[in-house]
Order: sequence, then C-alpha cells, then structure tokens
Amino acid sequence: MAAPLNESDATGQAGNIRIVLVGTQHPGNIGAAARAMKTMGLSRLVLVAPEKPLDDDAYRRSAGAEDLLDAAPVHATLAAAVADCRLVLGCTARSRRVQLDQLEPDAAASRLLQFAAADPVALVFGRERTGLTNDELQLCHASVHIPSDPAFSSLNLAAAVQVLAYEVRRALLAAAPVDVSGPRPDDQAATHDQVEGFFSQLAETLEAIDFHKGRTPDSAMRKLRRLFLRTDLSVNEVRLLRGVLADAQRMARLAREAGRLSP
Ligand code: SAH
Repeated sequence: MAAPLNESDATGQAGNIRIVLVGTQHPGNIGAAARAMKTMGLSRLVLVAPEKPLDDDAYRRSAGAEDLLDAAPVHATLAAAVADCRLVLGCTARSRRVQLDQLEPDAAASRLLQFAAADPVALVFGRERTGLTNDELQLCHASVHIPSDPAFSSLNLAAAVQVLAYEVRRALLAAAPVDVSGPRPDDQAATHDQVEGFFSQLAETLEAIDFHKGRTPDSAMRKLRRLFLRTDLSVNEVRLLRGVLADAQRMARLAREAGRLSP
C-alpha cells in the first residue's frame, strides 16, 4: 500500500502545481474547484480575469477551502499567470484546430510531477461557456482531455478540476521519492517567459528575412512553437538561439541597406 503523503509533499512537488482558472463566469465554480483541489492535497489556486469577484456562493461551495480562495492571486492574462512555469498543460473539453500534443489525465499528472520536482508547473482550465481560446492554448505545451463521451464531452469546471487533481494525487502516492536537487546550476531550464521571448524574436526574424513570402505567418509559427515546446529548452539554449536570431536580423538589415545603396 502507498505510504500517506506527509507535509513536505504538500510544500514540495504538490506545492509547485498551480491550478489556473481562466475567465471563470460563476464564482461558485471557483469555490467548488478549490474544494476539489483541497481534497486532493493541492493548494495553489490562481485566477485569470474572473468575470465576477469571489462572493458568498464561492465561499459556500468551497466548503472549508476558504484558505485557497483567500490566497489565490488574480492575473490579467494567462501569460502572466504562467510566466515562471516550466510546464503548462491546458484542459479542453474537445479537440481544437490548435496543433498541440494531447495527453490523457494520468499521463498529464505524471508529466506534471516530473517537472514539479524542481519548478512551478500549471494545469489550466477554461471558461464554462467557451473553454480556452486558441491563443490561450498556444501558450500551453500540451492539451489534456478527459476521455468523456464525445456526444456530451463537457464536464462542469469543478468536476474537471476534480478528475485532474485526483490523477495528480494518485501519481504522487505512487511516486518513489524524487531527487529534488534540480537541474545543473550552469544550465537551468528556461522559464515560460524566456521561451516566449524567444518566440517573439523568432516571429520578428521570420518577417525580417521574408520567410513567409506573402503567406500568413500563423501556420509556420504554430508549427515552430510546437517543435520548440516539445523540447526542454535550457536558459543557455535560449540564449544561443536568440544569438543566432540576432545575427540573422543583423544580416537582413545589412542586406536591406545594401539593396537601397546599389544603383
Ligand atoms: N463549452 C466549453 C466547455 C467548458 S467546460 C468548451 O467546449 O470548451 C470548462 C472547462 O472545464 C474547460 O475549459 C476545460 O478546461 C474543463 N473541461 C471540461 N470538460 C473537460 C474534458 N472532457 N476534458 C478536459 N477538460 C475539460
């Protein structure tokens, strides 16, 4: 039988797992999600632009998880809420056109725990009516789908949080003690924010070298994002890639200037 989790688990791996609720419409669902988290030993609730402030209904439905509600930071955007995360997984009720790897809940839970040994990670949930936008999903490394009936696939928000939190709990209970010494200090894993900085420069560079040739940039950028998000970029690797891009931008500038000067 698995040993019960102790206090250090709550502040260790579990303490690095963030449940992010984006644009929630009903405060009661935030309360119910907090309750679902607390039953499974998770405590880091983060809100992104909720439609309404927390109210009596939220506190009532948290049924004793008020501490999670009171401690929950509120961000204006998903990007801000996950800026320091190593891994960001977006939960979707149906598959979208966004090209993302899709994980089942148990695989998502073990992936989260693997990264949470050393860094913050996030599990992101969308709006009750419309879920996550494609732009928000683009910020995620992979999507997670609870294999519900395709003809009636959408769980209540707090129910979806419960299923994922349960899988995280099961994975934590099953896991052998993890080495939390973290990555090599000379080559720390890049944060989400650092990787996003690289993507912005990559998009600028593709424009500067006329890579798209009149096509819309979206499709190429989506594929490139997918490629790089699949890899586990380190700070040094991001620095190297940005150095390459800076040189490409410089050469493009020189070529433009030479073109202007030539007769
Ligand atoms: N009508 C919305 C569903 C929103 S349900 C849509 O079609 O996207 C609110 C949130 O709960 C979703 O954004 C998602 O994060 C989560 N959720 C609901 N059902 C889910 C499922 N089957 N798998 C994974 N997440 C789910």
